[in-house]
Amino acid sequence: MPKAMVLEEFNKPLVEIEYPLPRLGRGEILVKLEASGVCGSDVHMWRGKDPRTPLPLILGHEGVGRVVEVDGDKRDIYGQPLGPGDLVIWDRGVTCNSCYYCAVKKEPSLCVNRKVYGINISCKDAPHFRGCYAEYLVLFEDTKVLKITEEVAPEILVAASCSGATSAHTHQLCGITEGDSVVIQGPGPVGLFALAFALDSGAGITVVIGAQGDEKRLKLAEDFGATHTLNVSDTTVEERHQFVMDHTGGHGADVVIDTTGSPRALAEGVRLAAKGGTYALPGVAVPIGQVPISFYEDVAVKNLRIQGVWVSDTRHLYQAVRLVLSGRYPFDRLVTHKFDLKDATQAMETMERKEAIKAVLRP
Ligand SMILES: [Zn+2]
Ligand SMILES: [Zn+2]
Repeated sequence: MPKAMVLEEFNKPLVEIEYPLPRLGRGEILVKLEASGVCGSDVHMWRGKDPRTPLPLILGHEGVGRVVEVDGDKRDIYGQPLGPGDLVIWDRGVTCNSCYYCAVKKEPSLCVNRKVYGINISCKDAPHFRGCYAEYLVLFEDTKVLKITEEVAPEILVAASCSGATSAHTHQLCGITEGDSVVIQGPGPVGLFALAFALDSGAGITVVIGAQGDEKRLKLAEDFGATHTLNVSDTTVEERHQFVMDHTGGHGADVVIDTTGSPRALAEGVRLAAKGGTYALPGVAVPIGQVPISFYEDVAVKNLRIQGVWVSDTRHLYQAVRLVLSGRYPFDRLVTHKFDLKDATQAMETMERKEAIKAVLRP
């Protein structure tokens, strides 16, 4: 019987469980996973920090796989028919199209009925396989699927499904244009995707800030094309502030993007933004308490826009996939660690210790 790695108890190793090969419901698609990304959110969920986590749960919301079986006539977003053997990636969020946010605000990221593989669907009921740390995944009828016809290694593409898509959403909300100066806090997968999107839009000065243990990630940021990198472990807050001011004509950065979700980084980040700038927060994915911000000095008189970024929708997945497939950036070097499915706990530890830039499971 096919296997899955199940989160039964927070902070304990995931448990290998076998479930019967699922029978498909109406319009569902059975996918055999070829690559499952280990996202920072998985580590948060494993550690019990994410309030959305129903137990028991098959973790994993980033996946690329091959279609095994489809129920009925199924097509991808381009209208191409889907059948056995097709390589596919899909929007990890399944939205209802009929709630206020879907239907009126046209913001499916905020859908009140959003179901997310590997995040808010427990595996206790059949068909069980609703997370990517498993050999199979059953896609709900309403899942938006992209058939991949280009030559690409599944493990390279897989980060597009969450990290890449969330960065694309950030990019849309920030509206980076030619010549904008951009600071990115955190050189992990979200930060590197955000950097690539910024560079692709003609960003001028790009400063990526990392912390101790991020040396490899900062090097990769330079190879993506960042004009500058800074390490928190060998600079002070004031030195970094001065550095950004010195490189932006004393203005600060037009766009600052935090991908760390660290209160300390947030307090620092608002001060790095220029007047009329944007401070975006894709990194705040779990509750982090309160952050002291001087709203008069750092927000009001600067006309600063503080921009939340909650998850992503299909257009963002599409953009992230196109960016990876473009070959313009070395996304192949993002994946530093590959693990067997049974070693999923070890893979999360590797991400938590920042040994990996991106770890991927190969079910
Ligand atoms: Zn909805
Ligand atoms: Zn994620």
